[in-house]
Amino acid sequence: MKLPDFLQFDPFNQLRQQMGAEELGDFVFFDPKRHLTGLELLALGKTGLPARGEDLRPLGDYTLAYKNARVLSFRLNAEGKPAGVYHLADCLKVQQWANVDKSIELQVAFEPPQGMKVCQDCLHRLRYQGFDGARSRHQDYSKRIVQAFDSQGFFEKYPHYPIEESQAPIF
Ligand SMILES: [Zn+2]
Repeated sequence: MKLPDFLQFDPFNQLRQQMGAEELGDFVFFDPKRHLTGLELLALGKTGLPARGEDLRPLGDYTLAYKNARVLSFRLNAEGKPAGVYHLADCLKVQQWANVDKSIELQVAFEPPQGMKVCQDCLHRLRYQGFDGARSRHQDYSKRIVQAFDSQGFFEKYPHYPIEESQAPIF
């Protein structure tokens, strides 16, 4: 079936005129595989959402995206409690999850669980404030950065949502 060209469709054009709608506007199709729903967005800001390794996507600035939001990610232990460190970049561990252990169960969220520490390999990947985990003469400096690390401040510089796909590292 061939659809009519609605731009040439008189009843619609008259209606548009009556509404005073000069511009045609643009439409973004909502794709639940790529776009967060309102409920998912809310959950990310609270307890987080379950995800799999293959759902994580590194952005151009090495931070992590889940659908169209920048997130952090961590694992849950057998009791469903947060375990280990949380990741906010595509460090080697995250690359392993995203590319090899694709079905590994993870949690994605906007804020880390209370008391959970940031992954130092992620800070190294981002060269966050000059963080360099590989250089021993920088160890004191790097230790201070980890201790003072504040995820809220981080996500003020790297906003959760919406994300720009081609961002270069800013630190
Ligand atoms: Zn990491």
